[in-house]
Amino acid sequence: MKILVLNAGSSSQKSCLYEITTQNLPENPPKPIWEATIDWTANQNYGILEIEANGVKKDFKLNPEKRQEGISKMLETLSQGETKVIEKLSDINVVGHRVVHGGSEYSEATFVTDKVKTIIKNLIPLAPNHNPHHLEGIEAIKKILGDVPQIAVFDTAFHSQMPKEAAVYPIPYQWFQKGIRRYGFHGTSHKYCSQKAAQILNKPLASLRIISCHLGNGASLTAIRNGISINTTMGFTPLEGLMMGTRSGSIDSAILIYLMQEYNFDAEKLNKMLNQESGLKGIYGKSGDMRYIINAMEQGDELAQLAFDIYIHKLRCCLGEMLASIGGLDVLVFTAGIGENSAIIREKTCVNLEFLGLKIDHKKNTKPTMNTDISASDSQIPILVIHTQEDWAIACECWQKISQKKS
Ligand code: ADP
Repeated sequence: MKILVLNAGSSSQKSCLYEITTQNLPENPPKPIWEATIDWTANQNYGILEIEANGVKKDFKLNPEKRQEGISKMLETLSQGETKVIEKLSDINVVGHRVVHGGSEYSEATFVTDKVKTIIKNLIPLAPNHNPHHLEGIEAIKKILGDVPQIAVFDTAFHSQMPKEAAVYPIPYQWFQKGIRRYGFHGTSHKYCSQKAAQILNKPLASLRIISCHLGNGASLTAIRNGISINTTMGFTPLEGLMMGTRSGSIDSAILIYLMQEYNFDAEKLNKMLNQESGLKGIYGKSGDMRYIINAMEQGDELAQLAFDIYIHKLRCCLGEMLASIGGLDVLVFTAGIGENSAIIREKTCVNLEFLGLKIDHKKNTKPTMNTDISASDSQIPILVIHTQEDWAIACECWQKISQKKS
């Protein structure tokens, strides 16, 4: 089965093609046979398309005014030129799309229909940087590949069974009925990591209480019991919860009222401040990239140190919240850019948590191989570093949906 995955972000369109030749899904993710990235913002004058396939890397310039044409060009490279990996585009069996917001409508991956498109469209106000680009990808595929099955895999789906006490905000209940509730995000990553953790530990997923720490530019924690998301730090939008690269995470909402009343902030200004000018960048000032923060902190920069300290403080507070939600812990997972690569973040997160039975092995933590346990031999709880594979998880969902349809 040939599965094309599209992962559209606010400024990029990532895509890859998996070929599954076995009867069952392989246990470990295979390498895609073709990978492409369109970056619409790296250059002011044109978009950049980069392709990697057959051991060859190619790049092209794209007209940023014509994004659909850019997607056509990207798909063209699947069956033409040095990066050709298939005879014709109709050899693709299914296309999976990462969709950030599926609202409360979807608890699993879903075939794209007109109704699904309408729901993704109606949710644009809740995910203005993502949902329009998902629709753009869906329409481009329809135009180029015709009636190939398309499947939407929602970031929110994994959290759809979150109990009501975690999902409802303590504001007048009518707002919950109007859709103002906690949805949670990064679901594909949290779900993949929980399943991988069970596989690494060779234990049934249903027997494990897991806290998954997805620490990338955007960051969230999820408390998982019985394979189900019980609580998560992101909420109505991906702004809630942890301190992030440029997002504030949770703050006292009265600050917003104060800024509106005393400093004439409007919605646009508040949005920009909280989503783009806050978090690590807001405190350090020069960058929201954790590598720069750590580097500057090591050079003695006080604001970098403060940004780092707040990040750890918030992370540990939220960890406590997740811990209480599932009433204990059987495994702690670190994943995504910071979670997978930063030993100091993992170490500081776990400091003084021996009373929980959580103890990190400093040597293993310094240079972990991916998908291994970095806990000390006398730790009661494994601490895993897992390489998240969202695209592969989307491909697996597609494979399952298509297989179910056939049987
Ligand atoms: P996104 O949310 O954009 O997918 P990623 O998961 O790629 O983000 O994570 C990006 C973050 O990971 C950045 O803050 C980057 O600085 C951080 N990161 C990557 N490598 C390291 C490292 N070795 N040490 C600390 N942070 C790192």
